[in-house]
Amino acid sequence: MRMSKLYLPTLKEDPAEADIKSHQLMLRAGMMRKLSPGIFSYLPLGYRVIRKIENIVREEMNKTSSQEVLLPVMQSSKIWKESNRWDKFGPLMIKFKDRKDHEYCLGPTHEEVITDLIKDEVRSYKDLPLNLYQIQTKVRDEIRPRFGVMRGREFIMKDAYSMDIDYEGLDNSYQEMYDAYVNIFDRLGLETRVVKADSGAMGGKDSHEFMVIAESGEDDIAVCDSCDYAANTELASSYQEKEIIDKDLKERKLIDTPDIKTIEGLEQFLKIDGSKMIKTMLMKADEELVIVLVRGDDQLNEVKLTNYLQATNLEPASEEEIVEVFGVKPGFIGPVNIEGYKILADHRIKNIRNAICGANIEDKHYGNISPVRDFDVDQYIDLRTVKAGDICPECEEGKLDIEPGIEVGHIFKLGTKYSESMGATYLDENGKAQLIVMGSYGIGITRIVAAAIEQGNDQNGIIWTKDLAPYEVIILPLGKSEEVDNTSEELYETLQEMGIEVLLDDRDERAGVKFNDADLIGIPIRITVGSRSLENNVLEVRNRQTGEDFEINIDNYEEEIKEMLSELE
Ligand code: ATP
Ligand code: MG
Repeated sequence: MRMSKLYLPTLKEDPAEADIKSHQLMLRAGMMRKLSPGIFSYLPLGYRVIRKIENIVREEMNKTSSQEVLLPVMQSSKIWKESNRWDKFGPLMIKFKDRKDHEYCLGPTHEEVITDLIKDEVRSYKDLPLNLYQIQTKVRDEIRPRFGVMRGREFIMKDAYSMDIDYEGLDNSYQEMYDAYVNIFDRLGLETRVVKADSGAMGGKDSHEFMVIAESGEDDIAVCDSCDYAANTELASSYQEKEIIDKDLKERKLIDTPDIKTIEGLEQFLKIDGSKMIKTMLMKADEELVIVLVRGDDQLNEVKLTNYLQATNLEPASEEEIVEVFGVKPGFIGPVNIEGYKILADHRIKNIRNAICGANIEDKHYGNISPVRDFDVDQYIDLRTVKAGDICPECEEGKLDIEPGIEVGHIFKLGTKYSESMGATYLDENGKAQLIVMGSYGIGITRIVAAAIEQGNDQNGIIWTKDLAPYEVIILPLGKSEEVDNTSEELYETLQEMGIEVLLDDRDERAGVKFNDADLIGIPIRITVGSRSLENNVLEVRNRQTGEDFEINIDNYEEEIKEMLSELE
């Protein structure tokens, strides 16, 4: 491709709207432009990278038993009502009506479409297992679209769905996809870590995420420093102390805490550590008000609470609701003498003795509060988010580290959630109807572009791996000279004939501009053609990945370039 013809609007400065490296660089390198928040147009360079990722994913998927299909973006509310997710999916789903007043959504995921597709076609156990995948645009009205394609509202996903006769079949299908994902991320040159994951709105049991470890990651991963336990902190747990620490219960007392409404405020005022306090929260799960207790030094894990309550929406209750339940404003609430509401407490509350908690009286807290004697709990569950330094729940020895990660893939064992609600059955060997057992498997194609750039960049721009680079080689003719132009043209033709993807910077630009753009767009091999080096019969070559410069003999450049390409990562 000739750069004079390429639609490549590069930017010199980092755009103010972009706050992470990949977002800045995708805009600066002319890979994409924003239409609306979280909605992008992909320009030629950006789309080439997307196609490369798609092709690697497609090739690896085609090596499995999965077959490629293309499912609709526009989906009738009927199938979503059958699966009971029309309301449950919440505001993430874009809904609208057609001219006949029928309700539709723009597909945020395709479990419903796939189940509807196969339910009348797959009749017998002989038709199973079946695995179908597609690479397609998904639409989710994300509350906080940000970081460019990392969290878009319209993005490309590869999603696959497996259908089996039983759970053993599902285990095999899941393993086949798991292995394919390992190969895919390996070929994409992404260093990923597989972690246990929450299955969220998808339902089902086992679930794993493929995470790229990166500073800009929006997920937190808990990793054991001695065994291979790794889990998203959305569901990660820590070792539970089994013994009840039985200390003498001291007499309850009322403490003046004027205008002190936070754990930090109490820590300073009372000179007592948060671990000796009970944090009381009122949460609204759909329409139900639930009182939640965690230790003062812990954070409530809303994913765990949502899953336990099987709620669609979980939010903190309003101030009015707090006053209604506790008879006092937020900041002084506690579980003592509260009746008529469900009280859920984290396991660690069971072991707390002589603690501080709100007294349900303005400007007052209680001291020496203990469970059972002072308040009742309906259920103790795991409700806290793990912290760095916690003991690993699996080996019960190692300590957990917390690392930021970018979720690039997610696989789920769905089980029979969709086949049951939507009536997808097959006839077994005895002619008896059985539910199809399903799995679903996603990879964020456009998010991978950003993740790859987060892993590969420097102060000058993007550093692509060989397989993702939009072009493999860029030729920079420098200065105005017929010889330079002719040699560059000849190089351009020859390399293309060799099957190499080449960019020729034939723009009438200064050398500095050409060098900067070549670095910015990150093409792995840069060949500079200048009068002086031609006099010496050499070409100057730079490896963008290592920063190394070489001079190669012009009579033998084909071999040299081929070798350099084969050595790229
Ligand atoms: P997240 O937790 O990041 O919101 P999710 O768990 O809701 O993602 P899945 O339903 O598991 O996402 O989707 C499969 C894959 O699609 C994810 O692993 C991710 O790579 C990608 N993906 C999901 N949401 C987005 C988005 N808003 N923008 C870009 N890619 C996304
Ligand atoms: Mg996910």
